[in-house]
Amino acid sequence: AREWHLKARPDGWPVPADAALVEAPVREPRPGEVLVRNRFLSVDPYMRGRMNDVKSYVPPFQLDQPMDGGAVGEVVASAAEGIAVGDTVLHAQGWREYATVAAEHAAKVDAARAPLSAYLGVLGMPGLTAYAGLLEVGSLKPGETVFVSGAAGAVGSLVGQIARLKGAARVVGSAGSAAKVAKLVDDYGFDAAFNYKDGPVAEQLAQAAPDGIDVYFDNVGGDHLEAAIGALNVRGRAVLCGAIAQYNETGRPVGPRNLALAIGKRLRLEGMLVNDHVALRPQFTAEMAGWLADGSLRYEETVVTGIEHTMDAFIDLLRGGNTGKMVVALD
Ligand code: NDP
Repeated sequence: AREWHLKARPDGWPVPADAALVEAPVREPRPGEVLVRNRFLSVDPYMRGRMNDVKSYVPPFQLDQPMDGGAVGEVVASAAEGIAVGDTVLHAQGWREYATVAAEHAAKVDAARAPLSAYLGVLGMPGLTAYAGLLEVGSLKPGETVFVSGAAGAVGSLVGQIARLKGAARVVGSAGSAAKVAKLVDDYGFDAAFNYKDGPVAEQLAQAAPDGIDVYFDNVGGDHLEAAIGALNVRGRAVLCGAIAQYNETGRPVGPRNLALAIGKRLRLEGMLVNDHVALRPQFTAEMAGWLADGSLRYEETVVTGIEHTMDAFIDLLRGGNTGKMVVALD
């Protein structure tokens, strides 16, 4: 079976040759393990950080070793109690066709309740990030104005919609193309949206949110964060979720130069990691499933087919080639 190995640590933007698809033996499950045939692989922005050899909240990928990441698949052999052949599971050994996984690291998912890929997106890690980040970290209250960057992506598209469903008075998003901006307003119910490539973020944000913002959900960092600090109202909150504008930059990161505004405005800027919020999962799953069932929440996926295209899909994600969650389907 095939699996992806990291061959070189990218300097700046990753290139296809930084990884290679190699043939590797499939190990039969030992007691307590299952063998999974992966059906969908997740590619996520955080994987860029794991390609660097730096200490972080997740360990770096090792050269000439399989990369990992979220995946869903079907159990084809089981030596574990409670998981049977034919069950579908979510686990962390992505970037490969077959995975031998310890049962405690495989979570059963119900293929009848939602398409399997949804467990990598709207009902999975990105969904929980949006839900917990906005509600628990951002402390959104009804009547407030929310701004989210990366708004057409997996996390951002859900942040905007959850904000609306939780009674935000105004929801504003930014994204990187006219088509994405139109989708935010027409399909996801954002009140206003702009293309950050059309002009300075601060100016476009001031037009889209003339009375300021109360919560900023940051997926981007840099100029976006600076503009949001300028626009935040007194006691506003910024949820620092990601800083994708700097993941491939080799120069000095662009920082918010107006941080001192946080003093007078008594702002709260708080970093978040989704893993801190797993206790919210039952509430998240129930509420999201309800919104999906009654049609009040929409989600999209950009599906790339074929394991040989996984690295291309990852690079394309970093360039904004996706709308909603980027996943790789294995045939
Ligand atoms: P997305 O689906 O949003 O995909 C990434 C998007 O980033 C692209 O589609 C692109 O859209 C946008 N982008 C790329 N470069 C830039 C740039 N220079 N400026 C502005 N936008 C850019 O990915 P996710 O939803 O999975 O992740 C969104 C963010 O959340 C990331 O920063 C990620 O690291 C973070 N994250 C953090 C977690 C945590 O626990 N803290 C958990 C999950 C995600 P466009 O066309 O609009 O430019």
